Amino acid sequence: MRSAKLPQPVKIRRTYKYRLYASKRDKRLHQQIDVAGNIWNHALAVQKRYHRLTGKYINKHRLMSHIARMRRTERFGYWQLVGSQAVQDVVERLDKAYMRFFAYRRGELSIKTGPPRFKKVKKYKSFTLKQAGWKLLGGNRLRLNGRNYKFALSRPINGNIKTVTVKRDQAGRLFVCFSVIEEISNPQVEVSTGKIGGFDFGLKTFLTDDEGGEHLSPECLKANLSEIGCLNRQLARKQVGSNNRRKAKRQLVLAHDKVANQRRDAHFKLAHQLCDEYDVLGFETLNLHGMKKLWGRKVSDLGFAQFALILEHVAHMSGKQVVKIGRWEPTSQTCSCCGHRQAIELQERWFVCNECGLEIGRDHNAARNIRREAIMMLGVGASTPSLEGVRRSEMIASLA
Ligand SMILES: [Zn+2]
Repeated sequence: MRSAKLPQPVKIRRTYKYRLYASKRDKRLHQQIDVAGNIWNHALAVQKRYHRLTGKYINKHRLMSHIARMRRTERFGYWQLVGSQAVQDVVERLDKAYMRFFAYRRGELSIKTGPPRFKKVKKYKSFTLKQAGWKLLGGNRLRLNGRNYKFALSRPINGNIKTVTVKRDQAGRLFVCFSVIEEISNPQVEVSTGKIGGFDFGLKTFLTDDEGGEHLSPECLKANLSEIGCLNRQLARKQVGSNNRRKAKRQLVLAHDKVANQRRDAHFKLAHQLCDEYDVLGFETLNLHGMKKLWGRKVSDLGFAQFALILEHVAHMSGKQVVKIGRWEPTSQTCSCCGHRQAIELQERWFVCNECGLEIGRDHNAARNIRREAIMMLGVGASTPSLEGVRRSEMIASLA
């Protein structure tokens, strides 16, 4: 069997996130984020007023220079607290939000998108710097807008730093994110296994491979649900605006954060395991919107989308290939043995072919079809029967 083509050296954008430490008395970074939130609200108000008066949209460059002018006035002098680039970035974010909204209105986006909204300043999360306003001082020290900070340098930063973002979470912790452009030279495949796998995401089993092997999901949220429920109830008992409420809120945020970390960790482990075992991994593109409607919260808990991203990343790093199959492929309804197609109910766990009598687990059957489709997309080896043929005859039938 031919081994899959190696990816060419590419430039990828990557983010390194570290915990940032500021002394308790040093509220400067929080103030700067507050100011960025203030500017967001102001820019949005300007945009709205202009639209109300003229029916037009202010392009971002005009809005930027307007905001820069206001920043020099006495009334808005406190905006000087954040650098001019951070101000530009806020306007850019607003512009992007509007562009998404316009694209949705034009029917170019399928995900429902509303216009940008005013935000509570305390809930505004970050500001971003480009070239100016920050400097790495060596080791784990960083200079930000004239003050020195330390951050938890848990792994070295590779590549060319493009932007630096200071973030805060709801628990009041600060983080610094370096967005870098990293050049990955031709990744080396250490062990080429020659194996091609097909995988099907499922609700009962997180992943089923084409040999019927099952990879279970960690379902971290379920395991921690009682703890989170308890913290939620504690929070509900606290008086609004009190110090104790603030503390309870922090506990809850930290608990949710723990769940997210556990899940990410489990996803990375599974991704590495699969990339060690297979050279090419076939997956179906996810229709998360549809899945959520069908299955509810559990979809978010399983984190299919996150896993898909992590897998692609790990595969990229280890020179393995992920092949994505279009979601219009009837992978669950086609017999993986003879290619016969028949309807199968959603709750039906077994696929029993009316043609050849094959009895097989639903997800296992889908995984086998996904594998075959992946092979076809790669052009590696011949495979019969093909879903392509099924689809074509179906298209012809629908045209007639
Ligand atoms: Zn069959």
